[in-house]
Amino acid sequence: MALTPENREILQAMLERRRAALTVEYAARSDELQCSRLLAELRRIGVALVHCADGRHGRCADCELDIDFERLLADPVASRCARCQGRHEKVSAVHRKHSAGLEAVA
Ligand SMILES: [Zn+2]
Repeated sequence: MALTPENREILQAMLERRRAALTVEYAARSDELQCSRLLAELRRIGVALVHCADGRHGRCADCELDIDFERLLADPVASRCARCQGRHEKVSAVHRKHSAGLEAVA
């Protein structure tokens, strides 16, 4: 059992509002770093909306268990449950540390 139809509608509305706001922001931006961040976020929202439509949204990409609705309300593009996200971040923290070091130099 993934999301209830009511909860899916709430998330869908949140995602669509966020997408509209980001699209406006994207149009107003000219610096590349901000633009690529906005584009990445817009892509995540697009994927989440597709998953809303086909019923996959709200299920963890790693363990396939339901993601807490509270977690989705806080972060509607979340694709992992809190447990898997924690594990995922631990793994990628090493990579981030490395590229953060490079960013600090630049
Ligand atoms: Zn999970």
